[in-house]
Amino acid sequence: MIAILLGPPGVGKGTQAQAAAAAHGWLHLSTGEMLRDEVGRGTELGTQANVYMSRGDLVPDEIMVDMVAGRVSAQPAGEVLLLDGFPRTLPQAEALASKAPSGAIALSVYFRAPDEVLVQRLLGRGREDDTREVVEHRLAVYRETTEPLVGFYRAQGILGEVDADRGIETIQEDLVRMVRSALEEQSLS
Ligand code: AMP
Repeated sequence: MIAILLGPPGVGKGTQAQAAAAAHGWLHLSTGEMLRDEVGRGTELGTQANVYMSRGDLVPDEIMVDMVAGRVSAQPAGEVLLLDGFPRTLPQAEALASKAPSGAIALSVYFRAPDEVLVQRLLGRGREDDTREVVEHRLAVYRETTEPLVGFYRAQGILGEVDADRGIETIQEDLVRMVRSALEEQSLS
């Protein structure tokens, strides 16, 4: 099954996904990490993507969909794939729905936290695309382009919500509980 981790930059999706994947043998796919790896290796894709990333803009949908298509289409039913940072636009969500095996997308977890918390966390982690100007732009892009996906998944009845302005362990418990119950439901259907 595929569980989508949704939420603003800085909310802690990556940290949570990594911890849950390590503890439970789940797979964690972070498109941001994949892109940073391409940038670091100086590939053509990385060079192209970095133009957008350094501004805090989204990398074009075609590039992103090509990047994850192979992986999501081959997702075995009984294995958990935590998708972190994808989809971020409605066209990406639609592409994901068409490429994933039928019924595979069983859960979307929406991580929420107040803007002040996000900005503080983003500025504190000191990544290259985490300057104040870029951070504010990334949040604006998130509100406009990615947040509508909350409604998209809520309408499908697969949205779970997590208050991410709490301790890491408490948030982790919520996430793991949601993934387990989605897995269980899937195995019953
Ligand atoms: P992240 O590590 O998830 O914050 O992603 C870092 C940057 O990579 C983002 O600010 C975007 O520029 C780019 N990126 C990652 N995932 C996507 C995506 N699904 N669609 C478009 N751009 C993305």
